[in-house]
Amino acid sequence: MHILVQKFGGTSLATDERRAQVASIVSEAVHEGYSPVVVVSAIGRSGDPYATDTFLTMVKGIHPDLPKRELDLLMSCGEVISGTVLVSTLKSLGLKAVLLTGGQAGIITNNDFGDARIVRVEPAEILEQLAGGYVVVVTGFQGVTENGQITTLGRGGSDTTASALGVALNAESIDIYTDVEGIMTADPRIVEDARILDTVTYNEICQLAYQGAKVIHPRAVEIAMQRNIPLRIKSTFSKAPGTLVTNMHPDREVGTDITTDRIIAGIAHTPNVTQFKIMTTDASNKQLTDKRIFKAMALADISVDFISVQPEAVLYTVSDEVAAKAVQILQNMDFETEVVPSCAKVSIVGAGIAGVPGVMADMVEALSDAGVTILQSADSHTTIWVLVHQRDMVTAVQALHKKFNLDI
Ligand code: ADP
Ligand code: MG
Repeated sequence: MHILVQKFGGTSLATDERRAQVASIVSEAVHEGYSPVVVVSAIGRSGDPYATDTFLTMVKGIHPDLPKRELDLLMSCGEVISGTVLVSTLKSLGLKAVLLTGGQAGIITNNDFGDARIVRVEPAEILEQLAGGYVVVVTGFQGVTENGQITTLGRGGSDTTASALGVALNAESIDIYTDVEGIMTADPRIVEDARILDTVTYNEICQLAYQGAKVIHPRAVEIAMQRNIPLRIKSTFSKAPGTLVTNMHPDREVGTDITTDRIIAGIAHTPNVTQFKIMTTDASNKQLTDKRIFKAMALADISVDFISVQPEAVLYTVSDEVAAKAVQILQNMDFETEVVPSCAKVSIVGAGIAGVPGVMADMVEALSDAGVTILQSADSHTTIWVLVHQRDMVTAVQALHKKFNLDI
């Protein structure tokens, strides 16, 4: 069997016309001899009647402690609706199609409601349906615990479903269909002349995704990478070839590395973060103090990023939403703290950064020429991050895109 996983995002399923396009993509795969497993997200985006966020507004404010188990039941409805509608559309084209929930598809998760992790996939039911000639539509973003409780997988969960199924079924490819023509050198909503990348490495797209490029969820990339299943990011609305995510170059001998082809693959951004600088000059035991700070954040369930431990200070960022809570905790601990709200993290990502001198110098030059202040920076062998004021974010992304010639 030539199994193909095809995942369609919310905007791809939003109207009758778009669902017809989705169905014709699936139908084409069937006629090419593939056995498609189709993963669907909920229809539309926040505000649309059947979007997951819309369901959540129905229970918001009724009770301060919303029951997580029931919330997951509610949140799993959107994909059941879109899946049912898609199965009907596929049948109208004369295809045999069946809908399976995450649980029915064999996606077993832990008990962490709202942000469950897939622990294993038991694909027997999918395989049986495929063998019977059915297109198997699977509701994304959800699974079931060992005890049969329905769970959801957190942000980007449908991408994760697609990758987990791709790996479990040893699919020939995992195709992520969305509203852009592939992975681009920057978010096209910010950089007008962002270009589509033909190929990127798992590592590059993983970094881009972690740093804010929401085109695919990083967890999904990590899962596909474990078994080297090729990922393709394509548009539902055009015939463009899209982006191939792999370790190999498609036109060359197997095993040829593509990482040396370019220095920078793309620019990503994450808005809405707050920077904390905690003075530790007076600390009698610096290490113990550092540990206390991070322990306190962890205990309050505040995730910290962009950490820099320095001889006289500790720096990190948290999302704006939890900044007030973090301030309160640090005040209670009697720390002198500088807080810079409304910052953004801007990152340049490329497998070719490692060992190439002058990349940081170019980055600093581009930003200072554009009048952007760098509040903090860090680097690894594939990524350089800078923290800037959010008001400078768009300018920073555009300046870097130009500096590294990503528009040509
Ligand atoms: P879906 O609903 O199909 O899952 P998403 O909204 O999650 O779609 O992801 C697609 C969006 O990701 C695009 O509309 C685009 O604005 C955004 N995006 C951000 N960074 C990038 C990038 N580097 N390349 C392509 N798209 C990007
Ligand atoms: Mg998405």
